[in-house]
Amino acid sequence: MRAVVLSGPGRCAVQEVPAPTAVPGEVVVDVERVGVCGTDVELFTGELSYLETGHSSYPLRPGHEWCGRVTAVGGGVDPAWLGRRVTGDTMLGDRVCRRCRRGQQHVCEDRQEVGIRGDRPGALAEQLAVPVQSLHELPDSVDPVLGALVEPGGNAWRAAQAAAVASGDRALVIGPGTIGLLTAMFLRARGAEVHLLGVTAPSLDFARGLGFADAWTRDTLPDLPVDAVVDASTDPGSPALALDLVEPAGRVVCIGIAGTPSTIDTRTLLLKDVTAVGVLSASPGLAPTIEAYRTGAVDPRPLVAATVGLAEVGAVLAGGRPRGSGAGPKVHVDPRLGA
Ligand SMILES: [Zn+2]
Repeated sequence: MRAVVLSGPGRCAVQEVPAPTAVPGEVVVDVERVGVCGTDVELFTGELSYLETGHSSYPLRPGHEWCGRVTAVGGGVDPAWLGRRVTGDTMLGDRVCRRCRRGQQHVCEDRQEVGIRGDRPGALAEQLAVPVQSLHELPDSVDPVLGALVEPGGNAWRAAQAAAVASGDRALVIGPGTIGLLTAMFLRARGAEVHLLGVTAPSLDFARGLGFADAWTRDTLPDLPVDAVVDASTDPGSPALALDLVEPAGRVVCIGIAGTPSTIDTRTLLLKDVTAVGVLSASPGLAPTIEAYRTGAVDPRPLVAATVGLAEVGAVLAGGRPRGSGAGPKVHVDPRLGA
């Protein structure tokens, strides 16, 4: 089968690789749609910290925002999974350690991350093997575009949940990229008045086109009380800005990550009685995200700018925009295209 292989920083190719087989406890999925995300770009450029810590190493097979159909099951797996449309958790804990036993497998020290960490091949390929425990079945109304947006959506759902806003509360999201916009959608679905803070005019125009009229730059941001601030940016100054902007007794949620340390003054945290929350991974948010997509409470399909084949992934990872792209921040891949 064909798969995207990263052989070193800046080196990406589609290669013919052995098709996966379903080992005991796992399934093989025919991949229908995969999202390309910032983590994939960092794996491509070599900037991801896991490459430094040894959690990841080349050659790498990326892709962790995916959906597809189960086509083979290994020993001990209920054959009823065959033919089901699924997505899956990126985080694969060892299932035996204290954290895993407490239901926090997404922070397992020995975890694999599909397409990212621990030598677990990813979904930018025609087929993918994953443990059956990591699967989430997709209802018919969650189409392949939505299915491949469940993983980023799960991250955003958790950020919105951590913001703990009620109807009528005001929330500010810093960074109108995929995660920021998804978080804004989940916050809006909770009844909050949602503002977005960005840098470039096209990204703010795109946010306005999604119905977020309150899309600002630092220069235009109005001085209004904000009950929760979600930092979904990669700017190392954003967490301190979030703490500065949030109302006393409010919440700051960090889901964006910068390439250098992002420092805050914890005296401000204390004196403002602010609750700060960090979010890593979609795991606990996958099921509620599928439900929000199923009911239509959140529909992020406009975020997808283009859908390309595997052969174009290298150009996308290098920062290129596929020909005919829309204005959205997300590029999707259909491995069946151009086969
Ligand atoms: Zn564990």
